[in-house]
Amino acid sequence: MMQEKPYFCPNCRSNRVKFSVITSYSQRFIKDALTGSIQQYNEPDAIPETEPMIQCQVCSFTGNEMRFVKQAEREPRPGANGSPSYEQHASE
Ligand SMILES: [Zn+2]
Repeated sequence: MMQEKPYFCPNCRSNRVKFSVITSYSQRFIKDALTGSIQQYNEPDAIPETEPMIQCQVCSFTGNEMRFVKQAEREPRPGANGSPSYEQHASE
């Protein structure tokens, strides 16, 4: 499950909004032993993962969700709760 926490890309450090979640699927199929042709496909099953893989849509960096969450905690969005706004303006 993805967390409802802010993300911030630790690579390009310009994206907090546009991401992809990378999901692995397992799909069973039956092969003909002689010809090698595929006889039957089953529905794909998502492989449950303890920590989702997240991809930044700006720079295509892919990493564990925690890396994006941690980066957002280190560098909260300007104006976010708890960070004085006058400090943020100085650095922008
Ligand atoms: Zn990025």
